[in-house]
Amino acid sequence: MTPDEFRRYGHELVEWVAGYMERVAALPVQASVEPGEIRAALPPAPPEDPEPFEALVRDLDDVVLPGITHWQSPGWFAYFPANTSPPSVLAELVTAALGAQGMMWSTSPALTEIEAHVLDWLVELLGLPQEWKTAVGPGGGAIQLSASDSTHLAHVVARERAMERGASSEDVVAYTSSQAHSSIEKGARVAAIRHLRLIDVDRDFALRPSALAEAVARDVADGLVPAIVTSTLGTTGTCAVDPVGEVAAIARRHGLWHHVDAAYAGSALICPELRVEQEGIARADSFVFNAHKWMFTNFDCSVFWVADRAPLVRAMSILPPYLQNAASASGEVIDYRDWQVPLGRRFRALKLWWVLRAYGAKGIRHHIREHVRLASWFGGRVDEHPSLVRVAPVAFGLVCFRHVDGNEATDALAEAINRDGSVYVIASTIEDERFIRVAVGATPTTAEDVERLWSIVSAAL
Ligand code: PLP
Repeated sequence: MTPDEFRRYGHELVEWVAGYMERVAALPVQASVEPGEIRAALPPAPPEDPEPFEALVRDLDDVVLPGITHWQSPGWFAYFPANTSPPSVLAELVTAALGAQGMMWSTSPALTEIEAHVLDWLVELLGLPQEWKTAVGPGGGAIQLSASDSTHLAHVVARERAMERGASSEDVVAYTSSQAHSSIEKGARVAAIRHLRLIDVDRDFALRPSALAEAVARDVADGLVPAIVTSTLGTTGTCAVDPVGEVAAIARRHGLWHHVDAAYAGSALICPELRVEQEGIARADSFVFNAHKWMFTNFDCSVFWVADRAPLVRAMSILPPYLQNAASASGEVIDYRDWQVPLGRRFRALKLWWVLRAYGAKGIRHHIREHVRLASWFGGRVDEHPSLVRVAPVAFGLVCFRHVDGNEATDALAEAINRDGSVYVIASTIEDERFIRVAVGATPTTAEDVERLWSIVSAAL
């Protein structure tokens, strides 16, 4: 492609993207293709001759879009949001064009310094401890691929720390609640931690500290080594908030690493009135939230902070001769390769930087507050309806409810809602009870969309 062609096609493609952002509201939210259907539309053999770019763009409409479930639709209420925004999309274009590797400061200083600085801004914006800023220390933040990666890292570091203190790897124990995300179990498993205790929850699905204390005491009595506990700020099922402060106290008492998983709800901390368990969070050893869920920054952008970066860097650092350089040796720069499993890393901070600048903190707060207000409005409608019961408090942007007639009626209701096509919700299960989750948080979702969802729900009852 010549530079002139790139310019022309680039303009056309940005037009296509802008057009998609406008017409996504009119598309059915869920893809409705059969398994294998998209693949069958692709030629069996790879292209030998170059194809015109027009053909590539045409296939976006003809082949790709039919197989896309539209997470950026205003009718997106499924799972949690994975929202994006125009500044984020444009930053991704620049990141791809620069194609720079930020594995070390020396391989592109701007990547490292902008990331470190923007994450220090976020410490301020989310009301987190000053010591988590790389400019203040001893802690610091790094952008990871996903919350699962961050949680895995926390487990690796905690295991290493326990072993540095003399534990045998066989004896290390991890704890979290029975409502924690599956990434905690996976993180512990990949970190080769053999023992994972899923601690009981209370009526609001938050971890019971007394049950945690008992489990830790039992393991100590059995000669095992409690090494890490993960609290959740906003569980995936119902957005329950664990008593992070009480967990922090137990962690301190027994020398456990305390990781906080705020994958979804962490974005809400930008609004002071939505902050919960802030004192407990301030005593955590590590904390993760996904800007790629609810901060208008497209996947992937998971922000991971540690209160002390030394054990993380110790666990992750290997220095082969081909990576040695004067800047690293000076000890004056951050080399993010030592904060993660992969060596290479792309310029993910650019999109976060652009989102923060293009919206301003005020703009982000405005949208998050609006999502929370709309969820609360929807929760009110659920409470008023005789055929519906809420199964958990409305938390942040999430409303969880079921049909009074039980599981079959709840599943039938979810199917009826989704059959409309303009909205998408999912059903889940807790303690054998099916319930429907409505997560308000897609970037273009407005009051009109949530009202439309309510009319679809009430018409289906
Ligand atoms: N933790 C919680 C509480 C989540 O809700 C999720 C995903 O929804 C995750 C972790 C996993 O996030 P990721 O896809 O970034 O690994």
